[in-house]
Amino acid sequence: MVKPKYPWYYQSSKCAPQYALRHLRDAWDRAFKKTAKPPRFKKKGRNDSFTLDGTIKVVDHYKIQVPKIGILKTYERLPFGYKPKNVTISPKANKWFISFRIEVKSQNTAKSVERVGVDLGVKTLAYLSTGIVFEGAKAYKRYEKLLAKLQWRNRKKVIGSNNWKKAQIKIAKLHTKIANIRKDTLHKLTTYLAKNHGEIVIEDLCVQGMLKNGKLAKAIADMGFYEFRRQLEYKCQLYGSKLIIADRWFPSSKTCFLCGWHNPDLKLSDRWFLCVGCGSVFDRDWNAAMNLSRWSHHQAQACGQVAADSLG
Ligand SMILES: [Zn+2]
Repeated sequence: MVKPKYPWYYQSSKCAPQYALRHLRDAWDRAFKKTAKPPRFKKKGRNDSFTLDGTIKVVDHYKIQVPKIGILKTYERLPFGYKPKNVTISPKANKWFISFRIEVKSQNTAKSVERVGVDLGVKTLAYLSTGIVFEGAKAYKRYEKLLAKLQWRNRKKVIGSNNWKKAQIKIAKLHTKIANIRKDTLHKLTTYLAKNHGEIVIEDLCVQGMLKNGKLAKAIADMGFYEFRRQLEYKCQLYGSKLIIADRWFPSSKTCFLCGWHNPDLKLSDRWFLCVGCGSVFDRDWNAAMNLSRWSHHQAQACGQVAADSLG
């Protein structure tokens, strides 16, 4: 139906609509598996991108050949000598980006810690059982203020006017900058984890649960837990470490990691874990991370029993 009506259809590659449909199907698959929210309608000018496949070749360090368009020059250095299967091209603010996947060999790095538990925090990005805390980027707060100011100043400009367009570009640039800072923090965390630890234990945060409390640090809340896990999965393969997902119902923050005393009344706002069993006081997130680092299938069953007993 589209083809006879819109002559521009033949000017672009047939891959672009095909991939759009494929991505839609993937999005619905994720939604039905409940790992993501259902897809929403796209708006022109927001997160625009298209995917091409066919003969793609990195010609030299600053040139890549793609079907239908030809040779594209880049400002960033490309990995030379690869033939990616497909590329995705996307405009962001006033720049164009090209992304593709290449195959690399895994490299086993020396691991300083055998096993680590990671608790994704409310106030902090992540608390590791080794005591290391990732605060998350604070740098963007300043830019967020600036963004609000720009948007406020833009409120009375005539939509479509030149001044409006200029301001739109400024706003889009700032948006990208903030997003990049968040992306960077998440990548630094996952790389650090995968490179330096033999086994990494994380909680299985379901989407519904996250929506319910919605209180994860912004860098993760923004990109989603799915992205955090995706990065860890491929980086663990890359650096030769193992990712362990603790059971969804494992009460990591409500159990004392020393004596196993269970506090069913612990609230999200409680920053400290006070143990009645052994009298210890821990930072709540650290206690959760320690529990995760000691997690095993066997222990999970025992804990389930304790929880069932206390319920009964
Ligand atoms: Zn205790």
